[in-house]
Amino acid sequence: MNCEDAKIKCQMLIDDELEEEEIAPLMNHIESCYNCRNEYIELLKLRKKLTGIKGSAQNEEWFNALEKRPGRRFFNRIAIVLFIGSWLLLAAYTLFTFFKSPDENLFVKIVVTASAVSVIIIFITTIIDRLRESKTDKYKDVMK
Ligand SMILES: [Zn+2]
Repeated sequence: MNCEDAKIKCQMLIDDELEEEEIAPLMNHIESCYNCRNEYIELLKLRKKLTGIKGSAQNEEWFNALEKRPGRRFFNRIAIVLFIGSWLLLAAYTLFTFFKSPDENLFVKIVVTASAVSVIIIFITTIIDRLRESKTDKYKDVMK
């Protein structure tokens, strides 16, 4: 199936006019084609806006499957935790060794610590914002 066909059939699927046997090949194309997937999602959103009605069962299944991609979220979370954890440990270690160093005076230690703490706070709030964004994923409300 090429993209031209897929786009026409997406519209038909959303209008519930697509033959049963054509649905699976279309879904295969949509799942492997970024452009058609986006187009399909846009069509679903548009339909939802226009009608306020849920999509067909087929659409819902497809969205659930996409949402539950094996381990996608799980590994995402682990990666984020490892990323944050390793940076925090590194920052703590650096600060600790810096503080232990007898060559630096107290004023420099305080200034460096304050600036390091501010960087860490900005870093953490950015990560939290990022996590909130991913929770309100733009595809999520499409089927609700
Ligand atoms: Zn395509």
